[in-house]
Amino acid sequence: MQRFADLHTHTIRSDGDYTPRELVDRAVAAGIGILAISDHDNLEAIAEVDGYARDKRLALIAATELSCQFDGIDVHILAYGIALDHAELNRRLESFRLTRDRRGELMVERLADHGVTVSIDRVREIAGSGSLGRPHVAKALVEAGVTSSIEEAFREYLREGRPGWVDKERFRVDEAVELVRRAGGLTSIAHPSLYPDHRRLVPRLLDEGIDGIEIMHPDVGGDDRHHYARLAAERGKITTGGSDDHGQGGRKTIGEVRVPESMIGAILERVS
Ligand code: AMP
Ligand code: ZN
Ligand code: FE
Ligand code: FE
Repeated sequence: MQRFADLHTHTIRSDGDYTPRELVDRAVAAGIGILAISDHDNLEAIAEVDGYARDKRLALIAATELSCQFDGIDVHILAYGIALDHAELNRRLESFRLTRDRRGELMVERLADHGVTVSIDRVREIAGSGSLGRPHVAKALVEAGVTSSIEEAFREYLREGRPGWVDKERFRVDEAVELVRRAGGLTSIAHPSLYPDHRRLVPRLLDEGIDGIEIMHPDVGGDDRHHYARLAAERGKITTGGSDDHGQGGRKTIGEVRVPESMIGAILERVS
């Protein structure tokens, strides 16, 4: 029987709400048979639930979502089938996590300069062991009553150009592609239609050596899905998909995107 995959999900090891085990349970309940946990800059969840997922007959794919920059644009690249113990990859991810923590301090300082008080200790507590990011600062802002929603926190304070915005360290695209390749993995352009002028940008990203395009994603509409499926076929690239589930508050939910197993053979080959 054909299985269905969700290749784009987050847990508390980055900015999702669910523990790795909860995510596995939800995947199984949603009828997903193949799951990639793709936390930002963090691989911990995968090893954590390796045995647990196996007991539930859920196939796990090692993954991560890397923030890259290309021509000043923030591009997210998904990596699949990487070796979890790859030293260089782990060193780079560790360094990104440290700079994310420092960035959290800077965001809190900038907000304070603007008369908005949130405590860095509370932001760190909310982030827990996960890669500290803007969603954690957003939650602290809501908790402190500064904004009434996460969306508003992003819109008023955390988006580029707003008072709490601090840029973060990113990979160059070619550097990310090379590193993932050395770690034995494949890369895919996450949510392609979210980038400015994306129909021009995506072909150039493929020129950098990215292996595929995430054609199935809640933010990729039907026209773009067909467009990018055709582009991937023309260029001999793979296609991927996933829900980008971040947890309870989000509108993206595991099970919403169901990628047929037959679409992701190249990735499955690297895992089994
Ligand atoms: P960071 O990597 O710390 O810059 O945070 C980026 C993350 O914030 C993304 O992966 C999304 O999960 C989340 N995010 C970005 N924009 C918004 C928004 N407008 N509302 C809610 N979450 C957002
Ligand atoms: Zn995220
Ligand atoms: Fe993303
Ligand atoms: Fe994501």
